[in-house]
Amino acid sequence: MTMQAMNDTYDAVIVGARCAGAATAMLLASFGLRVLLFDKSRYGTDTLSTHALMRPAVLLLQRWGLTDRLEAEGTPRITKTSFHYSDSETREAVEVDIKARHGVEALYAPRRNVLDRILVDAAREAGADVHHGVQMLDLLHADDGRVTGVRLRDESGHAREVRAGIVIGADGRRSGVARLAGSTPYVLGRHTTSCAYGYFRDLPIDGNRWYFRPGMGAGAIPTNDGNTLLFASFPGDFGREPASERVRAFHHVIQEAAPDIGVRVSNAQLASKLHFFGGMRGFVRQPWGEGWALVGDAGYMTDPITAHGITNALRDAELLARAITEGTGLAEYQTARDDLSLEFFEVSDRVASLDWDIPTVQQYHRMMSKEMGREEEALVTMRDKSATAA
Ligand SMILES: Cc1cc2nc3c(=O)[nH]c(=O)nc-3n(C[C@H](O)[C@H](O)[C@H](O)COP(=O)(O)OP(=O)(O)OC[C@H]3O[C@@H](n4cnc5c(N)ncnc54)[C@H](O)[C@@H]3O)c2cc1C
Repeated sequence: MTMQAMNDTYDAVIVGARCAGAATAMLLASFGLRVLLFDKSRYGTDTLSTHALMRPAVLLLQRWGLTDRLEAEGTPRITKTSFHYSDSETREAVEVDIKARHGVEALYAPRRNVLDRILVDAAREAGADVHHGVQMLDLLHADDGRVTGVRLRDESGHAREVRAGIVIGADGRRSGVARLAGSTPYVLGRHTTSCAYGYFRDLPIDGNRWYFRPGMGAGAIPTNDGNTLLFASFPGDFGREPASERVRAFHHVIQEAAPDIGVRVSNAQLASKLHFFGGMRGFVRQPWGEGWALVGDAGYMTDPITAHGITNALRDAELLARAITEGTGLAEYQTARDDLSLEFFEVSDRVASLDWDIPTVQQYHRMMSKEMGREEEALVTMRDKSATAA
């Protein structure tokens, strides 16, 4: 669809059509709002991210009727997860079965070109007007400063303006909407990890495996196409290290932290080249102002070591859509988001230091598990309240 097919005005214009933006668009359009969802990237493309989903994310995808679609795309059901802790003297494993609860029977780790596409399709089916290859250049403002719309450009260089009741920035951690609206962070992480990951054939595993060793982390996660996603985490930034050093570091961490996987890697085939993320400090940003709001990484980013960003994005799509459609207001959205985020953010940041001993990181994991339980209960209570109101 070309930009000429867009309307001049929408109730909500959403910048960024991945997990946060597409989920928000789907929810708002289902409620009957006129929604424009667009992204500068192409439909169905991948992005730099591993993609383990935590239980609250699966709960929402189930509620939205999308887990069947994930499975139809060959996304494996994950019914076990294990935590492997080691240092120079100790090696310890904790196995956890995924219990059936609140309709969730398994976890998933769908590739982003599967998950984001399914969410975009669901947004379109709900009635959102969806465009790819369209970039937001600027925000439009009224004389009193309120955000009233966006200035756009498509791939052929055509520009146009669109007006909106609300502009929602779902445009990721380097959000242009946040910058142009003047949103600033009020909590900042102290630590960062960088990460290398790749997809391996002929490396079957029977569930998510997470590895923690002082100074490093790793994981093995079953995903689409029969592949296993392997990742290795390092303290700080890669800096200017050449790619060959990063590849060497990836294999070193897998051998040290995940030796049971390490012995099998040489017989496995890398399905595509390794991907590298240089790290970025997490933050919690002011998520709304007059005429605008932020959702997903645009408003709140945790270090990837705790694999929670997509879960946050889907959860905050639900919180934001409810605040808009139920009329509770954007301040309520911020309160609900922060109530479910700030403790997790702090613990996630401590894990990202990679500077802990085994009892300490195990304590962090118990704290995170408690916070995820709270998150799940909050989402269940929200649905129960809506059902009662209906
Ligand atoms: C290495 C790494 C590993 C990770 N692993 C996990 C994990 O295992 N589990 C997990 O839950 N999370 C993980 N995360 C976090 C996860 O990737 C993010 O939390 C998630 O992508 C946030 O989704 P989003 O929709 O908010 O933003 P994004 O996925 O960043 O999407 C933003 C979109 O906005 C578009 N956009 C930006 N600017 C404009 C503009 N001006 N105009 C139009 N479009 C625009 C971009 O093209 C992009 O498509 C990981 C992240 C990294 C970096």
